[in-house]
Amino acid sequence: MSNRPIYLDSHATTPVDERVLAAMLPYFTEKFGNPASINHVYGWEAEAAVRQTREILAAAINATPEEIVFTSGATEANNLAIKGVAEAYFKKGQHIITVATEHKAVLDPCEYLKTLGFGITILPVQQDGIIDLIELEKALRSETILVSVMAANNEIGVLQPLAEIGEMCRNRNIIFHTDAAQAIGKIPLDVQAMNIDLMSLTAHKVYGAKGIGALYVRRRNPRVQLAPQLHGGGHERGMRSGTLYTPQIVGFGKAVEIALAERATENLRLTQLRERLWLQLSQLAGIHLNGHPTQRLAGNLNISVAGVDGAALSLGLQPVMAVSSGSACSSAVTAPSHVLTALGNSEQLAYASVRFGIGRFNTTEEIDLVAKHAIATIQSLRKQKTLV
Ligand SMILES: *Cc1c(COP(=O)(O)O)cnc(C)c1O
Repeated sequence: MSNRPIYLDSHATTPVDERVLAAMLPYFTEKFGNPASINHVYGWEAEAAVRQTREILAAAINATPEEIVFTSGATEANNLAIKGVAEAYFKKGQHIITVATEHKAVLDPCEYLKTLGFGITILPVQQDGIIDLIELEKALRSETILVSVMAANNEIGVLQPLAEIGEMCRNRNIIFHTDAAQAIGKIPLDVQAMNIDLMSLTAHKVYGAKGIGALYVRRRNPRVQLAPQLHGGGHERGMRSGTLYTPQIVGFGKAVEIALAERATENLRLTQLRERLWLQLSQLAGIHLNGHPTQRLAGNLNISVAGVDGAALSLGLQPVMAVSSGSACSSAVTAPSHVLTALGNSEQLAYASVRFGIGRFNTTEEIDLVAKHAIATIQSLRKQKTLV
């Protein structure tokens, strides 16, 4: 373990917290029942455990347990929300609004709906990564059925003004979906106060296991209709069939419970680490911060580095730190990050950028080591460049 690079990629995924793992383990073995089995204790104890996570998630976002639909993660939750609304409401209207900096799990379902004839408006963002509410208002039409704006960005950590967007949508009877994969357990979320109708969640960005997530689906004021995307046994009130993955669900609940209990102290500590890293890196000239300086996730620092080649920078950092660079990680072809270019970065600057995702298990010593190595790498690359 010790000579592996320092993990600073918490927006990609996080390790399972030991306390989460301990809570999950009995549900693989002695408590292995199917929560849908209603005739015996094996089923009952699994159902009770699933119920407990529903209650924890609901309380975390000010919803009710019946409004939580478990999915395999935020990708599936986003697909269910967007395609589910499109299919259920297409007679009301066929226009959807989203944002250029959304995750591909939002943009791609929208692109898909476009091929079916839906009108999709993709809002730009301001230079700080935040949407312009006036632009959003201008984009709303009578046939708009859905607005999808993420809570916290996975690349630049920027937080969108959910309450203002929610109010705008509610006043016009438009469904508001938010992808809160990066936000749950990290920032306050309140589906009532923020007028959120659908919210995508995932466990593995908050020290739970991969392969489990949830979609919050509003049941009253108004009741949101969704066309299921997986048909079968009618689980999750018909919205998402498939046997529930009890151990992962138990861990999801535990992970969110821990995150909420420790949020204040953890956010303070992560902010201090981020500031410590930024203070050192910003000593160099030509380093620029991507995204709003304060309206962002505590653990996120995203920088562009002028005067270096993106691929060389990424290679140079690799032995010491596990970070993400500014190319689109999800596709086979290398393309610059659509988020960074949406902020106005040139393609070259977007490539030469680094996302530091600081997490629960990072230490001050690690941050100092990372800063030192990053500075040395950038200086050496710039020197080489002037020599050729
Ligand atoms: C990670 C992430 C997703 C995808 O979540 P999975 O649970 O891995 O499918 C979607 N949206 C955002 C903003 C994310 O950060």
